[in-house]
Amino acid sequence: MPLTQPPRDCPLCPRLVAFRHEAQRLHPDWHNNPVPYWGDEAAALIVIGLAPGMKGANRTGRPFTGDYAGDLLYATLKKVGLATGEYRQTPSDGLELHNTLIANAVACVPPENKPTPAEQKTCRQFLTRRLGEQKPLAYLALGRIAHDSLLTALGEKKSANPFAHGAEHALSGGARLFDSYHCSRYNTNTGVLTTEMFEDVVGRAAAYISRPALSLPS
Ligand code: SF4
Repeated sequence: MPLTQPPRDCPLCPRLVAFRHEAQRLHPDWHNNPVPYWGDEAAALIVIGLAPGMKGANRTGRPFTGDYAGDLLYATLKKVGLATGEYRQTPSDGLELHNTLIANAVACVPPENKPTPAEQKTCRQFLTRRLGEQKPLAYLALGRIAHDSLLTALGEKKSANPFAHGAEHALSGGARLFDSYHCSRYNTNTGVLTTEMFEDVVGRAAAYISRPALSLPS
């Protein structure tokens, strides 16, 4: 049966496999493997990031856990009611997601946080199968690569749904896509993304999936 999550020792991207193996050699106590999706399996909102950060999800094995991007993402999810508990940068912190699943466009840590187009395409097969099993009400794409990879996985037209921070797209499949700049330290340090900008988008996505009149697309 085709996999909806990459296997732990996925061999499909030679450059990323070599990078993982080097990380395993340098940091044998780290996760250093594809990072699985995390959250509510029947979520109405799916958050799509770019790829694991070297000292974040690649180290801890949970998406957005262990580096700054997670500090902002989880604080915001808590603020809008999509997470409860304390986020302490470790998978054992007891944090829980509600109606929310987090995935990445690419499951392995890439050098300099830059997966190649070929790596994005290769890893998309898992995301495509996973999304084929689920009919969420909404997606939240963190950055252009996540946005584009998600649209391709869903068979949606990029020309009809261009990426822009704060944009909302009514997808032909029935779900709504919310766009945000990625919540990375680089983007917040440079002022590209502020906490207020991020909270606005995540808050709109949370409000959208909470509207009582909505039902799952058929
Ligand atoms: S990025 Fe995805 S497809 Fe490539 S090696 Fe990692 S898990 Fe496999």
